[in-house]
Amino acid sequence: MQRNTVSRVAIMKRGLRIQCPNCGSGGLFRGLLRIRYRCPGCGLKLSRSDGFFLGAMVWNYGLTVFGVLAPLVLLGALGMLSLEVVVAGCFLAGLLVPILCYRLAWSLWLMCYYWALPHELPSNAGDNPAVDEDE
Ligand SMILES: [Zn+2]
Repeated sequence: MQRNTVSRVAIMKRGLRIQCPNCGSGGLFRGLLRIRYRCPGCGLKLSRSDGFFLGAMVWNYGLTVFGVLAPLVLLGALGMLSLEVVVAGCFLAGLLVPILCYRLAWSLWLMCYYWALPHELPSNAGDNPAVDEDE
């Protein structure tokens, strides 16, 4: 069967748009905080194995701490925000940002994984039937 190959640039674009790295379709999530087991467009297994979610957790943590909390603390240290605003902002951001960034964190993790291992995408696997099968 002839398949289209997916380049690393396409994987990055799809990752930033929260799309499937294999086929580019959306709808990777069920509800706000639950990733589907497989892509509804192509059937790519999204949650590959036990512990695969740790990559998304690392992205979520990094986005929260380095994207929001550290800048708030820095603005407080520079005297641009009061201590009360920094503490309240960090508290609220610590609660809300991980939830709001959940989908982006998963998408960035899938993007990084398949950017590093593009041959594991079914579209790039050629005739290798071992790719993306259930264990
Ligand atoms: Zn797909």
